[in-house]
Amino acid sequence: MMRNYEMEDGSWDMDREHADYEMAELEAAGNRLAALEKKGICTHGSCQERSADNVKYNADLAPLKVGEVLCTAGCGKVFANHDEWQDAHFAFVGVE
Ligand SMILES: [Zn+2]
Repeated sequence: MMRNYEMEDGSWDMDREHADYEMAELEAAGNRLAALEKKGICTHGSCQERSADNVKYNADLAPLKVGEVLCTAGCGKVFANHDEWQDAHFAFVGVE
C-alpha cells in the first residue's frame, strides 16, 4: 500500500505513516499465526491439564488421560503434558 503522506502545507504526516506501518506489522503477525494454525500448530495461550477429578468442571477433558493438556482456546489440540504444551509455544514464538 503506497500512500502519500505529504500534507497540504508541505509537511509530512508522520502519525499517519507510523499508523500504517503498525497496521502492516499487525497484519503480518496475524497472517503468520493463521499459517501456523492451518498447519495444525496450536498458537493459543490457554490450556487445562486433565487431573483425576477436574472433568466434573470441564467435560471437554473427559476423553483425555490424566496429565494430558487440552488447548482451551478453540483448536482442541491435546498435548502429552504441560511441558509439551509449553515447548510447542516457545517454538513458535522463537524462545529457546
Ligand atoms: Zn490451540
